[in-house]
Amino acid sequence: MSLPSTYADRNCSLARALEVVGERWTLLVIRDAFFGVRRFGDFATQLGLPRAVLTNRLKLLVREGVLARDDDGAGNVEYRLTTKGVELWPIVRALMNWGDAYYSPSGARRSLRHDADGGPLDHEGRCRECGGVVPVTHTRIEPGPGFEPAAGTPDAVSRAINTPRLLLEPITTKPPTTE
Ligand SMILES: [Zn+2]
Repeated sequence: MSLPSTYADRNCSLARALEVVGERWTLLVIRDAFFGVRRFGDFATQLGLPRAVLTNRLKLLVREGVLARDDDGAGNVEYRLTTKGVELWPIVRALMNWGDAYYSPSGARRSLRHDADGGPLDHEGRCRECGGVVPVTHTRIEPGPGFEPAAGTPDAVSRAINTPRLLLEPITTKPPTTE
């Protein structure tokens, strides 16, 4: 990754941020990390991207401090969002809302709720039931009216993601992988 080279980019933090999260797969890795995916093999299954590309993106995100790589010494490796990574949530949420508004005629593909009272969240992450701004860890995600289940039997990770669950709650469905 090189630093922005044009005069306009040198003074733009958006350009700098896009060097970290601007590639399609990278933001999808981050999305899945919010959904609770933590293992290399689960990211690979869920995203269907080449393993070399996934390795590359995970390394970048660890180097930038967006993900932490936890290795318990027994071959169990997990990637989890750091505080810096969790701070990307409003961006992921806003892009999901934008995608729903313009590319999902049947409504939101995934709905966000305040786990404590079940209130739906508005686009700023505020609960329509209690009026509070709901922290990421108290946010429940579930299939929305525009959700379209994939044909066939979903894999275990997809099944977990498509069941109402708290953001960041780890998905543990398979034996650990060491990559
Ligand atoms: Zn609430």
